[in-house]
Amino acid sequence: MKLEKYSFGMGDRFLHQGAAQLQSIVNAKYEGVDITPVWNKSNREHEIVGTEPLSLRKEADYAVSRLDWQDNYRVDADHITLATVDRFLHCSDFFTLDVGDAIGEAASDEDIAAFVDRHSKYIGQMNIPGAGSYEVTATTLEAVARTFLKAVQTAAAIYRHIVEQHGAEFIPEVSMDETENPQTPLELFFILAAIADEGIPAQTIAPKFTGRFNKGVDYVGDVDQFEKEFNDDLATIAFAISEFGLPDNLKLSIHSGSDKFSIYGPIRDALKRTGAGVHVKTAGTTWLEELIGLAEAGGEGLVIAKEVYAKSLEHMDALCEPYATVIDIDADQLPTAETVNAWTGEQYARALRHNQADPLYNLHLRQLLHVGYKVAAQMGDRYYNALREFEPDVARNVTENLWERHIKILFMD
Ligand SMILES: [Zn+2]
Repeated sequence: MKLEKYSFGMGDRFLHQGAAQLQSIVNAKYEGVDITPVWNKSNREHEIVGTEPLSLRKEADYAVSRLDWQDNYRVDADHITLATVDRFLHCSDFFTLDVGDAIGEAASDEDIAAFVDRHSKYIGQMNIPGAGSYEVTATTLEAVARTFLKAVQTAAAIYRHIVEQHGAEFIPEVSMDETENPQTPLELFFILAAIADEGIPAQTIAPKFTGRFNKGVDYVGDVDQFEKEFNDDLATIAFAISEFGLPDNLKLSIHSGSDKFSIYGPIRDALKRTGAGVHVKTAGTTWLEELIGLAEAGGEGLVIAKEVYAKSLEHMDALCEPYATVIDIDADQLPTAETVNAWTGEQYARALRHNQADPLYNLHLRQLLHVGYKVAAQMGDRYYNALREFEPDVARNVTENLWERHIKILFMD
């Protein structure tokens, strides 16, 4: 099972927007760009919303049949670990092996020594074509092994468990994005060495890039530095494929990839220049479009949207806690519940919609609502009924967001 050159990960907290999401991929196909849709949902999301992994598979199948999509599509068990993988086994064909927590945990001294020994031919001045020249010493190799070998061994343990329980017909991704420090191209190269050593046929790898990838908002960081790093990573992966015999479709996966508008140009240019593929993983951006659609619909839709805001504000600390490393909310910039309760649907939609040119847009409100989906989950049927009742308003926003603001900019000329 091989993942195509371009793939786009879509999360859908409440499982009603699969067809509206897929429509954006269909639009791209009409315009001549083939993108494989991947529906992703992490264990954390399933727990917060109270859904089972099988429901995502059903949603994907339903969306695909409703739009008569004939090409491949995948269902991603996102950020799973050995502790959480089992309930995803029967309904996923893409597994994101999360090893973030194991980064920095030391492997055994023998394993580290064996790694250094195995890759000692790189000691000296090493040239990564397209990514520059690096001085590699035994200490460099040991330091990489000390920081990352245990993480790769952890990924390998999950990988082997899935193969035993499910067979090898799936797409493995190794994700290292949920950690403190970005990985340098040189570290990435030796991480890929370890991945090959461990026999993981990784098709995508999600490093942590430089800068902040906060949920639902634009990239925060040095765009020029990101561009250099992204290009260096592409060159590093190409080199690692030839050096270590990794799958030839191995590509970068960009997590929290939604809404990072200021780096989409550099990404698109790099893909075009190199011919490389990419996986862009998005999640909560669709949930925010649901709120926008409900607000625009007015009536009970707007009441719900306002209630979600008021309750999110009230429970801000608890809602933010699981996402602490990927949000930056300035509480002083948040409107009060009273203020929001007095808004029209249009005001609400404009404050939330990711249009940085709009003076009403508020990125703090947007991040708070991003983590506020638990509030909607607790509304239960009332929320689901509103999604059904106001489907046209919601679906229009979901498709437009992915198509106009994401896919068009990332993949089209
Ligand atoms: Zn991630």
